[in-house]
Formats: sequence, C-alpha cells, structure tokens
Amino acid sequence: MGQQDAQQVCLNGHQITDSYHYSPNFRMKCCSQCGAETIHQCQSCQTEIRGDYHVEGFFGFGDSTPVPSNCEGCGALFPWAKKQQDLTVATTGPRQDGFKLIEHICSRFHLVTKQLRTRYADRGSLIVVDEYDVQDLLHGLLRIHFDDIRPEEWTPSYAGGSSRVDFLLKDEQIIVEVKKTRESLRAKHVGEQLIVDIARYRAHPDCKNLICFVYDPDGWVANPHGLESDLNRKDEDFEVKVLIVPKGH
Ligand SMILES: [Zn+2]
Ligand SMILES: [Zn+2]
Repeated sequence: MGQQDAQQVCLNGHQITDSYHYSPNFRMKCCSQCGAETIHQCQSCQTEIRGDYHVEGFFGFGDSTPVPSNCEGCGALFPWAKKQQDLTVATTGPRQDGFKLIEHICSRFHLVTKQLRTRYADRGSLIVVDEYDVQDLLHGLLRIHFDDIRPEEWTPSYAGGSSRVDFLLKDEQIIVEVKKTRESLRAKHVGEQLIVDIARYRAHPDCKNLICFVYDPDGWVANPHGLESDLNRKDEDFEVKVLIVPKGH
C-alpha cells in the first residue's frame, strides 16, 4: 500500500520538496531560491499540502507534484496564489494599487539580486553590496509600474552627515524608503531609525503611504515579523508598511 506525503513550499510558491516526511533532509526553513519562509501545511486549518504518493517498492516515477493554489482542507488560497491574485487586481483594477505593486517588487527583490550575479561570459553586473546598490536597483524595478518617481534626498539626524535617498511616487502619494542591513545595522538600530523616519514622513505633505523596504540578505534581523508588526500602522490618513526581505533565516 502507498502512503501520502506532504510537500513543502515557500511563500512565493517555490516547491522545496514533495517528500516532506519521507525525506526530512530535503526540508528547508527558508527557500534557497528567494529566501522566503516555507510551509508544509495550510496556515488557516493546518491541513498538510498534498505531496508525493509513495508506493512501497517503487521509486521515482518522475512525475513532479504540482504546487496547488488552494488548501484542500478549507479551500483557502495559499499565500503564493493570493499574491498572484492581488497582483492581478492591482495591475488591472480600476485604480492601480501602488502599495501592492511595490510589495510584490520587494518580495521578489532577493531573487532579482541573485539572478543579476549570473551574466553571460561574466560580464559586468549590478552586484548588490550596500544601500546605494539597493536604491539603484529598486529605482529601476519601480519603473516597471511607475512613471513619476522622484528621488528625495535628505540627511537624517542619526546618519552623522551622510544623506540618503528615498523615493516619492507623487501621484500615488507613496514614499518608499530603502535600507540594507549590515553588521552595524541590526534590528535594534533599524527599528530606532525607522521610528525617526516614520515620524518625519508623517509630516510630509505628499506622503499618505510609507513603505520601508529593509533588505536583509544576511539575516541580521532575528525576528522580522516582530519588527514589522511593531512598526506597521494604519491610521485614517497615513499608512506605514515595513517589509523585511527575505525572511526566515
Ligand atoms: Zn522561494
Ligand atoms: Zn486550510
């Protein structure tokens, strides 16, 4: 008789393994492609995501297990399918949802930086090392959806004289702030800086929505969900969303 296994998938929909129980050594806490966290059960009802069907004595028919869009226990859309649906609504809806589009770009940023490291015959590339690289690459990616992107240069009180550039999307009344963590800029300092920046942008006449994109490829932020929920807020006239990417180190 056979046995039904579960599969493990990252929140962006990359399959990690379809033999979650049978081959525990294939499990990963976060996705090797995009860095996102992984799940093997529905987050609403805990039903396992259907994986490979093992038949004793038979090995590898080679058919890969598809990644489903909906939970077979409760019918809920899985996060990757939800993202896709949100994106469709955001790009084709009556009014573009700038917030969702930027979230989508940010959620795949780590994939883009990794892809850029590989070029034909080792040609030159944009290798993301510091915050300026993150700014420039994000600026380019914002062009996919936005025409009017205004770099806003300012010198924060904590930066000891060095200035930073954030982006104002004037039509959408969104400001995108960019940070990259490093050993000297871990969670505590990022949090403190963001509190200062959020207060500043609250008073900005063109800013109704603030997205703080924190690129954390080396995992200096130990509890990204905690930091996000500490700082996220939604008032009537001002919304802040902190996105720490990737998560799940
Ligand atoms: Zn992934
Ligand atoms: Zn479910």
